[in-house]
Amino acid sequence: MTKEQIEERKEILKATISVPDILIRYGVQVKRGRCKAICHDGKNYTAKVSDELYYCFKCDLGMDIFDITMYFNNCDFWTAFELLGGTEKPSFTARVKANKAKRERSQRITKEREEKAKLRQIQSIITAYRGIIASSEPFSYVWCYCQNKLQYQIYLLEYYTEKRC
Ligand SMILES: [Zn+2]
Repeated sequence: MTKEQIEERKEILKATISVPDILIRYGVQVKRGRCKAICHDGKNYTAKVSDELYYCFKCDLGMDIFDITMYFNNCDFWTAFELLGGTEKPSFTARVKANKAKRERSQRITKEREEKAKLRQIQSIITAYRGIIASSEPFSYVWCYCQNKLQYQIYLLEYYTEKRC
């Protein structure tokens, strides 16, 4: 297999097998996105589990499906890759699923970048209006105009900030 092929298979495996799937496979219970830490024999449900990652705050350790497989089988990456089915020919549906996941990831990144730029823009407009207000005569035409505009920009800032949380 070439490096590109391995990368593609990795994407496919990640898109078709989730971290909770793997944990359950090794007898680890997942409850509401959390499980008992496997890295330090945790007694409580403190480790965070998402589709893509297991994360333990105490050990500051993140594990994906390959790391978890390596951990439970005490094996190297290549063995884990094989155990997860990486060397088998992926089905058409698996490929489609992987491509979709990849596309969604890049769309999410683009959107976040756009929203950050928008926030920065609003903040600089607010700074500009505040500057004009501070240097103009209170209740003059310019002062009132900028106060009005400022309120709207503050509203926008709150709107975009809330949406991000
Ligand atoms: Zn831990």
